[in-house]
Amino acid sequence: MATITNDPIEVPVHEDQKVRTLTLNDRCDGPKCGAAALVKVSGVSGELLFCGHHYNKYEESDNMKKFAFDIVDERWSMQGENRLKAD
Ligand SMILES: [Zn+2]
Repeated sequence: MATITNDPIEVPVHEDQKVRTLTLNDRCDGPKCGAAALVKVSGVSGELLFCGHHYNKYEESDNMKKFAFDIVDERWSMQGENRLKAD
């Protein structure tokens, strides 16, 4: 007998080699921003999320270089449509 599930949206992506780990629920930690996060920076004291705009702004800063030990950069996902056309 089939069962109907109401699982939260959590779709495994197999058709693309790039898998997003950030979701639309992840929001930029930039001041008064709240845009969808595209970059996750893991640091010694926690994680920070950035939209493309704020990551561009902070990525070269000294504070970022001291803080970050792992960066998940998913800015590529913004250009998904263009990338398909370019290919
Ligand atoms: Zn932002």
